[in-house]
Amino acid sequence: MYNIKAYSAASATSPLASDRISRRETTERDVQIEILFCGICHSDLHTVRNEWSSIMPTAYPCVPGHEIVGRVTKVGSAVTKFKPGDLAGVGCLVDSDQTCPNCKAGLEQLCPNQTLTFNSPDKHLGGITYGGYSESIVVDEHFVLRVPSNLNLAGVAPLLCAGITTYSPMRRWGDLKGKKVGVVGLGGLGHMGVKFALAFGARVVVFTTSPSKKEDALRLGANEVIISSNPEEMQKHAGSFDFILDTIAASHDINAYINMLAHDGNITLVGAPEKPLAVSAFALLFGRRSLSGSVIGGIAETQEMLDFCGKHGITSDIELIKIQDINEAYERMLKSDVKYRFVIDMASLKV
Ligand SMILES: [Zn+2]
Ligand SMILES: [Zn+2]
Repeated sequence: MYNIKAYSAASATSPLASDRISRRETTERDVQIEILFCGICHSDLHTVRNEWSSIMPTAYPCVPGHEIVGRVTKVGSAVTKFKPGDLAGVGCLVDSDQTCPNCKAGLEQLCPNQTLTFNSPDKHLGGITYGGYSESIVVDEHFVLRVPSNLNLAGVAPLLCAGITTYSPMRRWGDLKGKKVGVVGLGGLGHMGVKFALAFGARVVVFTTSPSKKEDALRLGANEVIISSNPEEMQKHAGSFDFILDTIAASHDINAYINMLAHDGNITLVGAPEKPLAVSAFALLFGRRSLSGSVIGGIAETQEMLDFCGKHGITSDIELIKIQDINEAYERMLKSDVKYRFVIDMASLKV
């Protein structure tokens, strides 16, 4: 074991503060990564504040962070994909059983025995896993991603969660070229959804409740913006979408968006509202529409997404912060006062 600096929360009501944690020495399959950038995901905040206690209660101290980009500093003797000096990424998963049918199909995100990057039982050291708000991390090479060298590294960090979360359901739906795709909500997830849908050749329409976001959506390349609180605007587009990506994490009227779908259209939820959504069966039945959910992606697909981003020059729009400003960033994130993702410059942890 070795000891490093990190930022952790001591309880659900404590602010994040400087701390020290242990990492394991690299085993033969491990890659040790010096963390350069870590994105801030809403899951970090939910976990720190124990807001998902019914599904995954938080163990403290909690070191969040699962949008990690860094440089390899050491590799185990059996590691073949990486060598010291390489760029590397780590997302939401650091381990799984690698033997179940889901893992064998490359769907590690659906493995019943997965280890999340933070707040999961740690098979190696006991206790729980600690995430990316730290100097370094040690991860089985299967769960380490190659990072394209042509991209801005801070803007790559959010791809490891927000990126794959939006890329995966769109890829799974099929060829989006020439299709009409809606993106509901323009935040960390939504703005990535817009970028990917455009890169897939779709005609992209953003649904937003705030007229102030219209200009921004158009700047990102959206072909059209619908103010969802305006029934006339909504009515004009009813029954016309092939696919809709719903990124809203708060309660909302899902039926309004189901009714936007053409027949056989699909709406996929990637946001996680706390309370159940009321779904009108009629809205699904008439039109043979479908409603799905999706969570991150498998390791191979995450690599595919990063390679796609390298080829198409796609990164997240970010605001870079020092780790000392993390608590303020959380408050601003709660007000959606960020375009579109905070990323921590981990060099600030060294001072
Ligand atoms: Zn996340
Ligand atoms: Zn598995």
